[in-house]
Amino acid sequence: MEPIEVEAAVDTITLGDVTLTRVREYFGPVDMAPEVFFPGSPAEAWEAHRSWLVPDFLDGRTRIVNSAIQTWVLRSEGRVILVDTGVGNHKDRPYAPVWNRLNTDFLGDLARAGVRPEDVDIVINTHLHIDHVGWNTYLEGRSWVPTFPNATYLMSRADFDFWNPANEHKPLLGRGNQNVFEDSVAPVREAGQVLLWEEGHRIDGSLRLDLAPGHTPGSSVLRLESGSERAVFVGDLLHSPVQIHEPDSNSCFCEDPAGARATRRRLLGWAADNNALVVPAHLGGHGAAEVVREGDKFAVKGWAPFAPYTEQV
Ligand SMILES: [Zn+2]
Repeated sequence: MEPIEVEAAVDTITLGDVTLTRVREYFGPVDMAPEVFFPGSPAEAWEAHRSWLVPDFLDGRTRIVNSAIQTWVLRSEGRVILVDTGVGNHKDRPYAPVWNRLNTDFLGDLARAGVRPEDVDIVINTHLHIDHVGWNTYLEGRSWVPTFPNATYLMSRADFDFWNPANEHKPLLGRGNQNVFEDSVAPVREAGQVLLWEEGHRIDGSLRLDLAPGHTPGSSVLRLESGSERAVFVGDLLHSPVQIHEPDSNSCFCEDPAGARATRRRLLGWAADNNALVVPAHLGGHGAAEVVREGDKFAVKGWAPFAPYTEQV
C-alpha cells in the first residue's frame, strides 16, 4: 500500500521556461540543537524567529533542528537535470549513523515525479558531501554502479580533488565523509560519466554553474535565469532560514568559515538585488525563499509555493 504522503511529497513550480520539482528523501530532526549545528549563531535570533521556525525548521518541543534531504529536479530545454542526490541506499556510513544503510523509496518518489533513472540527462552535485552524492550510485550485486546511466554528472574539480582520498587532505569534517568518494563518486568517474568543471560551466540558455567556495573548497551554485525569473541554488551555504537573517552564522560543517560567510553574503546580496528565489539544499517548509536587504543583513521577503512537508502527513 502506498502511503499518501509520497504523492504529496512531489511538488512543481514554473520559473520562466524551466520547471522545478522537489523530491524528498528525508525530512525531520537531525539530532542537533541550533547552537551545535550553527555554533556562534545568536540565541536571540532563534528566539525572535521562533514563531515561524517551528515546526518546519525547528522542533518546538526538543529544540532540535528539522532539516530536509531532497533533490531538485529541473526540466530545461528538453532535458532532465537533478540538483544533488541525497544520502542514497545501503551505504556504509560508520561516522554518520543517521545516514547509515538507509533503505528509502527515493527512486519510487522520483518515478512518481515522472523521472525514471534513464531519463536523467544531467546530475549536479553542488558539492561532494555525504548527503549530496548518495544516489549518484546504487548497489548492484556487490558493486556500486551509476544510478542514472545516461547522465553526465557535473562536479567541480576543486571538490573532486579535495575529497579524493588519494590526495590525503585533512577536512574539518574529519571522517564524516568516510567511504563517500569511493562508493558515490569514483564509480561514476570510472564509468566515464563525470565532467569536471573549473571556474564555471554553462549548462544551457537558462542554467549556469559557478564556484562558490567556503562550505567546501569546490562548493558551487546553480543560477537560473529564464525570462524575468531568477533563482539561485545555493547548496549548503544555507541550512536554515535563520542564516538569511544572520548571514555570518555558519553551519558546523563549513570547511572555510570566513569564505563561507563572504560567499553567503555575496549570494544573498545578488538574490536580493535580482529578485531571485534562493533555493538551498536542505530547507523544509516551503523549501525556498525570496530575500530582501535589511540593514547590513537580510530577511525573508516571501516563500516559494512548495507545500511544507509538515502539512503533507
Ligand atoms: Zn548537505
